[in-house]
Amino acid sequence: MIRDPETLQILLDSIRQFVNEALIPRENEVAETDSMPVDIVEQMKEMGLFGLTIPEDFGGLGVTMEEEVNIAFELGRTSPAFRSYIGTNNGIGSIGILLDGTEEQKARYLPKLAAGEFLSAFCLTEPDSGSDAASLKTTAVRDGEFYVINGTKRFITNAPQAGIFTVMARTNREIKGAGGISSFIVEANTPGVTVGKRDHKMGQKGAHTADVIFENVRVPAGNLIGGKEGVGFKTAMKVLDKGRLHIAALSVGAAERMLADSLQYAIERKQFGQPIAEFQLIQGMLADSKAEIYAARCMVLDAARKRDEGLNVSTEASCAKMFATEMCGRVADRGVQIHGGAGYVSEYAIERFYRDVRLFRLYEGTTQIQQVIIARNMIREAQR
Ligand SMILES: Cc1cc2nc3c(=O)[nH]c(=O)nc-3n(C[C@H](O)[C@H](O)[C@H](O)COP(=O)(O)OP(=O)(O)OC[C@H]3O[C@@H](n4cnc5c(N)ncnc54)[C@H](O)[C@@H]3O)c2cc1C
Repeated sequence: MIRDPETLQILLDSIRQFVNEALIPRENEVAETDSMPVDIVEQMKEMGLFGLTIPEDFGGLGVTMEEEVNIAFELGRTSPAFRSYIGTNNGIGSIGILLDGTEEQKARYLPKLAAGEFLSAFCLTEPDSGSDAASLKTTAVRDGEFYVINGTKRFITNAPQAGIFTVMARTNREIKGAGGISSFIVEANTPGVTVGKRDHKMGQKGAHTADVIFENVRVPAGNLIGGKEGVGFKTAMKVLDKGRLHIAALSVGAAERMLADSLQYAIERKQFGQPIAEFQLIQGMLADSKAEIYAARCMVLDAARKRDEGLNVSTEASCAKMFATEMCGRVADRGVQIHGGAGYVSEYAIERFYRDVRLFRLYEGTTQIQQVIIARNMIREAQR
């Protein structure tokens, strides 16, 4: 749902301008230094980019899902590291508090996240529990007015910069699966919280992940999200359902950028006395990418609109995430092919994007997990 098309257009224009004039020119610097420039972070704060999805009552812009995916289409056109920096405050690090937190929790944390005062991070994955997230081993044991948390979380985005973590931990060890899991807000400076060394990733330099280790971390009982035990896994799944549409939209934006770069290269590069864009085999790759991007864009918008209408979009979100991220991988591969040898060296952005977008098919549920969700929903529907 678009609340006011004119206001949204102004916002999209300003983000597009920011991407074109401030972010794209700094992509190489971010990749080479593996860090986010302070002045860029300040500009992001001024533009309100940390609070896009946080309601206006808490200092954010409160965008709808349809508005959010339109923004993600724009942000997707530059290095994913920029989006990742603001991504957790708008997504996996804040949505659990927003959807299921108590009024007190929302009032305490959301305004700071919206202002970009600190970053948030979402701690679900563990060394032995990835796709099978419900098997997580981190424990939270009640001790008077506190819970004591012990465990290790893996690959946590923005962990090195985070001021708060939303942490999924098992409060009932008798229940092995999802029903024994609760979610907590843990402030990063709580004694016993340690952030490990930054992971050396294949791509998305400038966006950081690390282990987060909890050793006898005493968290006030008031930081149990929603004040209710046993519903933390449901909270995490709601967060990921929404996140999948966001990642799908980013994939569309990234694919559009890669295709634009590839088209430009194909027009400029000459072989056999003519631009390679004149060769029908190159045209085939350009056309396939164009059509697939269009299909993914339509899927993302349709699913986002349905979510705004209050419909359950578990299947649509997984379909969109699976199709858009896989499509993005194919567009990246064709982009390298169109660039020829130049696509394999770092002078052109396509080499970096090829590595950066590989992640989209892995996190927030791998492609195989999306397939499992889609098929499971289909079977459940058929058996009704
Ligand atoms: C850069 C990065 C950032 C991340 N950020 C975060 C974060 O902020 N917070 C967080 O909690 N996690 C984060 N993750 C973790 C991410 O969500 C997991 O890596 C992902 O869910 C996959 O889990 P896994 O790595 O343990 O792979 P595994 O679950 O071990 O999967 C390995 C392979 O087996 C396949 N597989 C697994 N189960 C099935 C099945 N039932 N059927 C068919 N195939 C299956 C998978 O698809 C995959 O191909 C991040 C990961 C990375 C790399």
